[in-house]
Amino acid sequence: MISFDLECANEHRFEGVFKDYESFASQMERGLVACPYCESVEIKRLFSGCSIQARPATAPLSERRGPNMFEILRMIEGYVRENFENVGSDFAETARAIHYGAEEERNIYGQSTREEIDELLEEGISVTPLPSSGASEN
Ligand SMILES: [Zn+2]
Repeated sequence: MISFDLECANEHRFEGVFKDYESFASQMERGLVACPYCESVEIKRLFSGCSIQARPATAPLSERRGPNMFEILRMIEGYVRENFENVGSDFAETARAIHYGAEEERNIYGQSTREEIDELLEEGISVTPLPSSGASEN
């Protein structure tokens, strides 16, 4: 979704929400965008304060202008390292203990085999693979 600040010929300002830029452009072209106050179709777009609604998960990252994939991975990795507890090779065991309430709920990360991850997923435990930027674990 994309939203634009619009203004009609009578200087009414309102926000128009469109599927994407093309949808906005074609509706403008066909005179389908009307002012909600006076129904004027003489609409112009105000260039200040338009926004693109990114998916919530990517919002903090999208504020940075054009980070490359490597930078994004570094940021995710850095975030996880700061905010998640490293349980090392006990990952699968700890994840299961937390899931079944045997251990306090918290964010963890660690190493796990492909098989262990598959088992966890089968048990309904949501495991998110941690992207690796290639920085070595010490
Ligand atoms: Zn108007």
